[in-house]
Amino acid sequence: MNLTDLGKRISGARRETEARGETFYPGPSRIHLAAFPPKERWDDWVELDSRSWPRRVERRYALVPTTCFNCESACGLLAYIDHESGQVRKFEGNPEHPGSRGRNCAKGPATINQVTDPDRILYPLKRVGGRGEGKWAQVSWDEALDDLATRIRTAIVEKRPNDVMYHVGRPGEDGFTERILAAWGVDGNNSHTNICSSGARAGYQFWMGIDRPSPDHQHARVMLLISAHLEAGHYFNPHAQRIIDAKSAGAKLIVLDTRLSNTATHADHWLAPYPGSEAAIMLAIANHVIQHGLYNREFVRRWWNWREYLAAAHPEVDRTFENFERALKQLYRDYTFEYAAAESGIAVDVLEEVARTVAAAGTRLATHNWRSAGSGNKGGWQVARTLFLLNALMGAVATEGGTYPNAWNKFVPKPIYLPPHPPMWNDLTWPVEYPLSMNEMSFLLPHLLKAGRGKIDVYFTRVYNPLWTNPDGFSWLEALTDQSKIGLHAALTPTWNETAYFADYVLPMGLASERHDLHSYETHGGQWIGFRQPVLRAYRERQGQKVDDTREVNPGEIWEENEFWIELTWRIDPDGSLGIRRHVESKQDPGSKLGLDEYYGFIFDQSVPGLPEQAAAEALTPLEFMRRRGAFEISKRVGALHEEIVPEAELHDVREDRFGRVYTAAPKPASPNIVPMAEPEPDPEGRRPVGVKIDGVIRRGFPTPSGKLEFYSRTLAEWGWPEFAIPTYIKSHVHPENLKDGELPLISTFRLPVQIHTRSSNAKWLDEIAHTNPLWLHPQDARPLGLRTGDLVRVETEIGHFVVKAWVTEGIRPGVVACSHHMGRWKLESHGQRQRMATVGLDHTGSRWALDRKHGARPYASSDPDTQRIWWTDVGVHQNLTFPVHPDPISGMHCWHQAVRISKAEATDRYGEIVVDTDKAHRVFRNWLETTRPASRHSPDGTRRPHWLMRPLKPSKDVYRLPTSSTSR
Ligand code: SF4
Repeated sequence: MNLTDLGKRISGARRETEARGETFYPGPSRIHLAAFPPKERWDDWVELDSRSWPRRVERRYALVPTTCFNCESACGLLAYIDHESGQVRKFEGNPEHPGSRGRNCAKGPATINQVTDPDRILYPLKRVGGRGEGKWAQVSWDEALDDLATRIRTAIVEKRPNDVMYHVGRPGEDGFTERILAAWGVDGNNSHTNICSSGARAGYQFWMGIDRPSPDHQHARVMLLISAHLEAGHYFNPHAQRIIDAKSAGAKLIVLDTRLSNTATHADHWLAPYPGSEAAIMLAIANHVIQHGLYNREFVRRWWNWREYLAAAHPEVDRTFENFERALKQLYRDYTFEYAAAESGIAVDVLEEVARTVAAAGTRLATHNWRSAGSGNKGGWQVARTLFLLNALMGAVATEGGTYPNAWNKFVPKPIYLPPHPPMWNDLTWPVEYPLSMNEMSFLLPHLLKAGRGKIDVYFTRVYNPLWTNPDGFSWLEALTDQSKIGLHAALTPTWNETAYFADYVLPMGLASERHDLHSYETHGGQWIGFRQPVLRAYRERQGQKVDDTREVNPGEIWEENEFWIELTWRIDPDGSLGIRRHVESKQDPGSKLGLDEYYGFIFDQSVPGLPEQAAAEALTPLEFMRRRGAFEISKRVGALHEEIVPEAELHDVREDRFGRVYTAAPKPASPNIVPMAEPEPDPEGRRPVGVKIDGVIRRGFPTPSGKLEFYSRTLAEWGWPEFAIPTYIKSHVHPENLKDGELPLISTFRLPVQIHTRSSNAKWLDEIAHTNPLWLHPQDARPLGLRTGDLVRVETEIGHFVVKAWVTEGIRPGVVACSHHMGRWKLESHGQRQRMATVGLDHTGSRWALDRKHGARPYASSDPDTQRIWWTDVGVHQNLTFPVHPDPISGMHCWHQAVRISKAEATDRYGEIVVDTDKAHRVFRNWLETTRPASRHSPDGTRRPHWLMRPLKPSKDVYRLPTSSTSR
């Protein structure tokens, strides 16, 4: 907005305010208080000091953008830096950010609590007692770096690079650290994805070769959500505001959630199905659409790989579309509303009405599933596959108001270096039993170590707390305290966490305003990139000062990771003899370390279309522009890229297969966007797939083997799962047929809107709002047990039990209980976030572990007077400790729902008590392992995994080949 527009806006606001008979008060900056500070005023913004009220004391600020790090949405923030103190006073929304558009959820502004948290880790610490004894000594960064670098270098030189593992929780960036691992030549990336979203990813990947959806909520006629998207989904605030915009414009909202979430309260249709039955509902809706011929026939004919399906399933018939339509009707005819009603407990007439609503959406059907049913159930990946079946039927794919493949609404710019991917395979993260898993089998690590499948010499956890976040935390504790399994553990973390207590080094990392990161997420139908930055560094640079190292401006010796990784890489290969150092060397000043201005300057100069021009128009360099605005919009609307006609220049020596997949001998044009997606295989002569022929025209298509939307997945069929090759319903491990007498499903995956896993427990405002996790149960279930709200309940799982408080509510389906996973943080005696961690004792005899709560939160003296005002004691119960691992045999997703027994607590039971037997946990792991179909027996081509599937840090192709020894597994 220029100043003229601004003046008009103020005048308009004044007229509107005065027309309501109110006094217009534009604030000291002469901007209406309801307006965002215009970017032209960000160097000198004036507000009244709230703490001086009722006196009118003006404070002057510089507003410096960054992005929030409290969830994966990366909304824009503006740091208000007080010109007087030179410190951040508060965070508010960045109106220049195309995804969040100036808005934030409660967790965005609460970043200030985290920055000023008196319990922060300010200096590198080294363990001085036994692991977990809680004895720490402050060390220098040099000591920690040299120790780590020496061990990593030794592992590389001794040809055991996979002894190095980096285990990340929230990446918050697009590939920086993966590239560092690639530079080291290690296949050591490990993630949290299989405890989070692999279920949904698998469903989407098998359809379109891209593992996430990007619903265009804002323009939808109907939104169908399987999850609590207004309060906790991907991408929470950016999606929530667009969902509400669409609802305000008359769109219908359908929500499937067994629990009355905040999202469900906004729905036109709230369906609370029996957990795991969601796919049956989707198929009943699909069946309605199919049997009544309500689908988008032309879209299905053009874009589904129905010819391939007919060839595989009905080789006896001609491959005509009419024959496919006949087969389609047969395939789903048993998924009646009555069948879905029996599975889900939702009434037939409700299902019918919802099906009619979906069918009326046309191409404006926006759908999304993340976590929730996709991550709760065995076979949950079919929930996403059957949900997307509705989009595919309606032709609501990459349409206005429909659902895009996420890769088309995301931009990952090409960086200054792209090290080759490692020439090795890590069996600890990609075991042979899970050839189709979407991501690393991260949560099995303790069991794979226990089974002697390998060991780790240097283990990094980074913004990750597996002991608390993962299932089966006591097995993690056993692994983390066994130095024969994990030689050295460095926890890179901004906050104390349960895993860090068992580390050898605790290395303090920056928060949202203390580090650089670059990201782009599929928040809507456009494309943008956001820039997280150390705001005090950017502020000082605006004042003409030079900052070489983020530690100069961050509290204590808190560092940012990019500088840390560059420095560590340099020390691993100080003379460049290993060929590693060259990936972190300056190009501008060869022989010296790459600086972050050069790193990001290169990206913004070379790899972001339109940014250099926009920056030049404002007389800024691209880097200055991003430091001043925090985000850049690359495209307002990305169209149907699959329809793009492949240009002649890309067609050379073309071959076409029998289903219309087109291959070319022309090289792939360079693209600045390196967004991750699947890479379909070349033809036998090495031509690359370039498109797919539809009605005689070669179009770009989807990155699947067929180039089309894969209704039929040849990959699933060939890799041992032909029965699941088309979208279908898999009965969950908590399906009534699989429960024993007295068991009922526990839903344990739901978030609380103002908390985020481990990361937000150091935010006092959030802790005051939400600090406990009672067990939701319906009055019909509570009454027979004599339970009332506040009573203690014992919840028994396969491997132990926990004791929690009851919350009796009609907001949950009878016969199901639920408990949020957010709470139950704990600390041993010495360190931790005292606002929201109970102090506990740990005890164990053999494989039996017990956690006993000594006391909850309580007031304490600190630099922040508010810590004396803590009024709550209850901080919830750590239920995840009592869950064994449940790896889905196909997607690899941990299936979170639990079959539990509940009873009124016994007289000796204490709130927060947890008892677990890790031998039982290992037996459950082995039972689920038995359900897999390993590559060693089912690979169609002698490889470990279909090469075309996405894989983080994808190794070189030759190491995909199975070693002979793995055939014994
Ligand atoms: S949704 Fe909330 S927590 Fe997530 S990035 Fe946006 S403001 Fe931060």
